[in-house]
Amino acid sequence: METEVKTTYECYGIGRRIGNEIRLNEHLKDYPVLHDLVLQHELKHFIGKKNVDWQEPFNLDLFTWTLKHPSSWLQVLPLRIDGDVLAYSWTLIYLWVFVIAWAIFLFVFVLGVL
Ligand SMILES: [Zn+2]
Repeated sequence: METEVKTTYECYGIGRRIGNEIRLNEHLKDYPVLHDLVLQHELKHFIGKKNVDWQEPFNLDLFTWTLKHPSSWLQVLPLRIDGDVLAYSWTLIYLWVFVIAWAIFLFVFVLGVL
């Protein structure tokens, strides 16, 4: 059975999957190569491939693109309100817990603050 994937665009983030929908930043339309790169990435999530976000190689063009489009930075927020739905990403929640834990460790035990 084949599930149809709908691609829509929004004014922030980079790309994400919500149910049967893949949402990409509308500014990616002006960059066909990056557009397809992000779309392929989201399709990997769609087919249920594991650890997709940790296996993606660093892409300098995509990084440069995010610097030109600050609205894409909202991608790193682990929680977002989407209309009446709370959207979340476990990958980003783990990442933020890890970063915050290291920051606390650094400040309290290494720098001796508090
Ligand atoms: Zn991803």
